Amino acid sequence: MTPEDFRKWSRKAADWGADYREGLRDKPVRAMTAPGEIAARIPDTPPEQPQAMESIFADFENIIMPGMTHWQHPRFFAYFPANAAPVSVVAEYLVTAVAAQCMLWQTSPAATELETKILDWLRQALGLPDGFSGVIQDSASSSTLAAILTMRERALGWNGNKRGLAGQKPVRIYCSGEVHSSIDRSIWIAGIGEENLVRIPTVGPRRSMDPTALDAAINADREAGLLPAGVVASVGGTSVGGTDDVAAVCEVAHRHGLYVHVDAAWAGAAMICPEFRDLWAGVEQADSLVLNPHKWLGVHFDCTAHFLREPSDLVRTLAIRPSFLETLGRDGILNYSEWTVPLGRRFRALKLWFLIRAHGLDGLRTMIRSHVKWSQHLAERLRAEPDFRIVSEPVLSLFAFRYLRDGADLDDLNRRLVTAINDDGRIYLTQTNFEGDFVIRFQVGQFDCEEADVDTAFDVITEIARAL
Ligand SMILES: *Cc1c(COP(=O)(O)O)cnc(C)c1O
Repeated sequence: MTPEDFRKWSRKAADWGADYREGLRDKPVRAMTAPGEIAARIPDTPPEQPQAMESIFADFENIIMPGMTHWQHPRFFAYFPANAAPVSVVAEYLVTAVAAQCMLWQTSPAATELETKILDWLRQALGLPDGFSGVIQDSASSSTLAAILTMRERALGWNGNKRGLAGQKPVRIYCSGEVHSSIDRSIWIAGIGEENLVRIPTVGPRRSMDPTALDAAINADREAGLLPAGVVASVGGTSVGGTDDVAAVCEVAHRHGLYVHVDAAWAGAAMICPEFRDLWAGVEQADSLVLNPHKWLGVHFDCTAHFLREPSDLVRTLAIRPSFLETLGRDGILNYSEWTVPLGRRFRALKLWFLIRAHGLDGLRTMIRSHVKWSQHLAERLRAEPDFRIVSEPVLSLFAFRYLRDGADLDDLNRRLVTAINDDGRIYLTQTNFEGDFVIRFQVGQFDCEEADVDTAFDVITEIARAL
């Protein structure tokens, strides 16, 4: 590609992106294609000769776009949001153009130094104490893996990486049944084994792990010759927002010398609003925590903030310094690749910097407060309908409901309802399993969502349900 063509097609992409965002409200939220439909339109073999950008771009529009689900659609109420505020997209264009590998300080000092500053901005915005340090990871899953490896190494006296796990005492990690599947996978990858992930029973409306049961489980494991290593606490679980009492978990865990990692991947963004911080009260006692600015806060995927009260155990677990990575003649520099599982690092701090500056913390707080208010209002409207039941009370902007009909198989009815809603296309919802029942989740979190979009959701849900 010549420099002129690069300019031309970059401009075209930027214009295309702006048009795309403007037209989203008129599109069905979820892709309407059948499995295999897109693949069937792509040749089975690669081209031997160069092809014109005109035809490549046209195929992108004609073949690829019909198979995309619109995560930036204002009526995306499924899963959790994956927002990409336009200003963070602009930052991504720039990062992509510069395309630096930011693994070490010297491979781009600005990337490292901005990351340190911006995570400290975010720390202040979240009300975390002075002294917490942050690093940007590619996903919450990676952060949790790094935390679990740290728990393992601390408990094994730094002998896991060196000697492997064979012949060592089994390492035990504790959590509730409400944690994300990334905890299970971290346990697998860390070689700890699913059988050593101990599920503590939950209590109360927030489905919090019972601290007394946690204490008993740790004692029993010690007596059985096992090696308790750490606890993963959940704040705003993915299914229905399950939230542990972080203060109580930390009290028990620390009394036993265990490490505590808090997974607040989705809910953490809301902690920029002081009135929601009760949800993670005690978080300053945790050893580490993770939240995804790429979810609710509005930063283009991927951008995960991993905060640590004291990063030295993590760095001791993950740092490896072959001579080809040494930075000669400089002391006191940070190499963030020593804090993460992958070596290579994209410049992710820039989009967080652009976002916070362009919207201000106040703008972001207003958005999150509105989402919480609209979602809770919708829950009240559905509760007032005799044929709907709120099955899990709102946690911030997330709740779950069920449609009721006398004599019907309610799992089947609700499965048909969510499918019919998504086939309709005006809104997009997903389901979960709540105490054995098929229920429908609802969350408000899309950056451009307005109150009228949530009102539309009420109309669509009630209209389609009653027509089933
Ligand atoms: C989304 C989510 C994750 C996984 O996040 P990734 O960044 O995709 O790895 C983990 N935990 C919770 C609670 C989540 O909501």
